[in-house]
Amino acid sequence: MIRINEHYQKLTASYLFADIARRVAAYCQAHPQVRILRLGIGDVTRPLPPAVIQAFHEGVEEMARPETFRGYGPEQGYPFLREAIAREDFQARGAQVEADEIFVSDGAKCDVGNFQELFAQDIRVAVPDPVYPVYVDTNVMAGRTGAFAQGRYEGLVYLQGTKANGFIPDLPSQPVDLVYLCSPNNPTGATMTRQDLERWVAWAQEHKALLLFDAAYEAYVRDPALPRSIFEVPGARQVAVEFRSLSKTAGFTGTRLGYTVVPKACLAYSADGTPHALHALWNRRHTTKFNGVSYPVQKAAAAVFSPEGRAQCQALVDGYLANAARIRACFKELGYYCVGGDNSPYVWVECGMDSWEFFDLLLTRAGVVCTPGVGFGACGQGYARFSAFGSPETVEEAMERLRRILPSRP
Ligand code: PLP
Repeated sequence: MIRINEHYQKLTASYLFADIARRVAAYCQAHPQVRILRLGIGDVTRPLPPAVIQAFHEGVEEMARPETFRGYGPEQGYPFLREAIAREDFQARGAQVEADEIFVSDGAKCDVGNFQELFAQDIRVAVPDPVYPVYVDTNVMAGRTGAFAQGRYEGLVYLQGTKANGFIPDLPSQPVDLVYLCSPNNPTGATMTRQDLERWVAWAQEHKALLLFDAAYEAYVRDPALPRSIFEVPGARQVAVEFRSLSKTAGFTGTRLGYTVVPKACLAYSADGTPHALHALWNRRHTTKFNGVSYPVQKAAAAVFSPEGRAQCQALVDGYLANAARIRACFKELGYYCVGGDNSPYVWVECGMDSWEFFDLLLTRAGVVCTPGVGFGACGQGYARFSAFGSPETVEEAMERLRRILPSRP
């Protein structure tokens, strides 16, 4: 008898985006004259930058000629791309990362989800709350949790984000082996400082723990005092792995390219305490289960790191950041507590009521769609996420409508 992995039975169906879609569809049907303004989605809307498109075309043309055609490439990515990433993303910012420590993939979601495969089943895992759900669900699938009860999985340690800590979780007060961190954060937009990261690195060193640092939104950091990589912190190479993505940096959500940095110095241990290099383990996993990103996509990705590509991507991100600033300014002006939106494309707003009640209010009174914070975890109750990935016109109009319907708060 073929049997299922019963840990999948513990997964709570994610009703969040389905619920949003259902409520929006019902409202649209009843009010077809209302133009809905969507600030809920986490997907980009602007096309790929011209330098990227040109390189993409060149890559496709090379595949059309016998003398330049390429079949399977290196599973870890072509050296031309890994070298450009190491140089531009890390070494240029003083972070010691070598090209052969970079593993290119078809996006950060897969890597963030798959990385936990390298660890024992009975390790103790900590996740932020609110959280990007992939960290949680992949550990549930792997059998590292108990049942879901009262909004949380038994056996997981939740690091609470609250108004009191500005949605930057504190160090765990109980033993933990693996910690997921995300900065700039999805969904809260909160960004960790250098001191925050230094504290985490020191803690991980002391406890022989590992930090999985998700930097999918690093391109949105504009404050030069804020770190864009955990490897800007001394000692991080021993205790951290970093995930990156071109999705929000260069508009690659539909093109697909991410990369994971596993420093050669980064260690995990067998039960008897013997240290093992995670680089070798991930290399084994990656080369066994993944066959590389397509050549034209890697060629397009390399253009992101050229001088023209960098300028064009910066302009793209600047456009979204200007939207985020508009959203943030509107809520600040109305007296709402919010985080994010200045070094991040997300603005996290305290609603002053239940998250779904606020969602319905905005939908029915203003035709504006946000994401209810409670969908990202128990600590998200009473909050809503606004995404800056729409057009400037959409954001401007949405904020005008909100100014009309939301009362100013003291
Ligand atoms: N990590 C975070 C925090 C995200 O918000 C996302 C996408 O929304 C990802 C990773 C996944 O990125 P990718 O498109 O590269 O799979």
